Amino acid sequence: MKRNDNLLGGKVIDLWTRIKNRGNPHVHHVVWIENAPSFETPEGLAYIDQVIPCRLRSEEEAPDLRALVKRNQIHRHTHTCHRNNSETC
Ligand SMILES: [Zn+2]
Repeated sequence: MKRNDNLLGGKVIDLWTRIKNRGNPHVHHVVWIENAPSFETPEGLAYIDQVIPCRLRSEEEAPDLRALVKRNQIHRHTHTCHRNNSETC
């Protein structure tokens, strides 16, 4: 496997990973990026918005990513969403 030390706009200087198997298996990461601004500053918030945009990319920008997000990251109601007569998921 090819190793790439750059992620989220900079060089990764540390990484914390936790694999979770409850429900669908998934991974939680905390990544420290060299020279990234503190998340408690306006510059840090702008950095997060730049490297982790929370919008669905257009078909022209990133067709493969768009298809993955639409297939795997968008909630679809199931019979478990309204257990105990809950009105929200
Ligand atoms: Zn639901």
